[in-house]
Amino acid sequence: MSAELLQYPNCGADIETTDDAEHEHEVAELEVDDAADPPRIILGAGTRDLWRCKNCGRVLGVS
Ligand SMILES: [Zn+2]
Repeated sequence: MSAELLQYPNCGADIETTDDAEHEHEVAELEVDDAADPPRIILGAGTRDLWRCKNCGRVLGVS
């Protein structure tokens, strides 16, 4: 994991703690199937926790 703090440029909100982000559980994990040309995006077997900026609602990333 990176130790860098997030600053979300879209709205300028500082994302430093879980109080600043909304946590949505269990979004699908995506995988890239390189066997196809162009590579396809397919559903993986697992799930990830998704985080959203509380200020503007944009997705910050997954963990
Ligand atoms: Zn934001």
